Amino acid sequence: MKAFEAVRHYFNLAADELELTDNMRTLLLTAKREVQVQIAVEMDSGELQTLIGYRVQHDNARGPMKGGLRYHEEVDLDEVRSLASLMTWKTAVVNIPYGGAKGGVAVDVRSLSRRELERVTRKFVDEIHDVIGPDTDIPAPDMGTNSEVMAWIMNQHNKYHGFNPGVVTGKPVEHYGIPGREEATGRGVGILSLKTIGRMGHRPQTTRVAIQGFGNVGSHAAKFLHEADCKITAISDVSGAYFCAKGIDVADAMEYSNQHDRSLEGYEKADPISNEELLELDVELLVPAALGGVITAENASRIRAPLIVEAANAPVRPDADQLLYERGVVIVPDILANAGGVTVSYFEWAQNRQHYRWNLDRVRQELERVMTGAFEEVWELSREHNVSHRTAAFMLGIGRVGRATILSGIT
Ligand code: NAD
Repeated sequence: MKAFEAVRHYFNLAADELELTDNMRTLLLTAKREVQVQIAVEMDSGELQTLIGYRVQHDNARGPMKGGLRYHEEVDLDEVRSLASLMTWKTAVVNIPYGGAKGGVAVDVRSLSRRELERVTRKFVDEIHDVIGPDTDIPAPDMGTNSEVMAWIMNQHNKYHGFNPGVVTGKPVEHYGIPGREEATGRGVGILSLKTIGRMGHRPQTTRVAIQGFGNVGSHAAKFLHEADCKITAISDVSGAYFCAKGIDVADAMEYSNQHDRSLEGYEKADPISNEELLELDVELLVPAALGGVITAENASRIRAPLIVEAANAPVRPDADQLLYERGVVIVPDILANAGGVTVSYFEWAQNRQHYRWNLDRVRQELERVMTGAFEEVWELSREHNVSHRTAAFMLGIGRVGRATILSGIT
């Protein structure tokens, strides 16, 4: 099943509960605009490379469209379309005044020098600057992009349209960013993990955690959960996974990764295992925080964690989702679990527009308020309708977007 088919599947489960008509389903699922552009760049070697960039703007019924920018070799239109749609439901679940969008460039960032990365980014903005903007569509970091890339986007966009830092979020704190944005997605994952652990009658002290992906989201989720007394027994990145039954010192692993070009390769304070083995470890909490589609019908029966918190987008395929639900595995779905990033992006954007700043404590406090509020609403809806938390989250998001669409007048 392709990525967008998976989103359509989850959407339809919720739409059935909401008794949406076929016409309304088509309207809500169809993207407003899909842009594909050529990015021709000169590499350091002097050779010419031609890349493909995408921006899909899914829905703006509740506000300007918002979504990350992914640089990864597997990026294609279907994936970007699915992620743009997830953004629409995500911003609605946490009830921030945004729609959904997503972008990406099909490129292996590890093969690019810093100067090449900057050229790719600026050329991409040259191609899409007219369709993004602080009132229309606001990019942010995702896999393979970071605050520095966001600063280049702002700078390049401002050359065409004048000074406006609100065109992009996730910028460096020293350059119109907000404290707490970088940690926000991982922290939100951590906050909801603790809430769910409590709801399931467990304690952090007896919770062993395996985290796949040790980039922005995975490392900050690990740090938060480690500081909350959970035992992080496995972490991983593209180089492989690392297991330690006694628990990994997350600060030490973060320092190691930072000193080794954001890679855990060669980390000797834990035993090497594979990324597949990590998913099947005997732990109380599994946090997929890297790629989508890693939990499938094939490995679902071997997943031992009773709780999965989806830090990554779409890490569980629909057939696996059903199998896990039937087995009673609790899943905190992506459109709720990883909404911390877009929530703090909203704070950043709002403050850019007002030339005003919150400190880190205030950002964390507001993030927790938004995340726990959405969590309670999803849990309540799931109980009321006797549906999975994923279906409940989609119901909450689709309901809000559907009402805004109708109120704005469709014709
Ligand atoms: P990142 O680029 O900072 O980190 C990605 C991590 O995944 C790295 O550790 C990388 O080595 C690892 N990885 C890549 N390929 C892998 C593979 N085949 N097997 C195992 N690990 C692999 O990206 P990120 O921003 O941390 O994003 C991670 C996930 O979280 C993505 O699915 C993204 O869409 C989602 N997400 C990110 C944000 C955000 O604010 N950054 C917000 C919402 C959702």
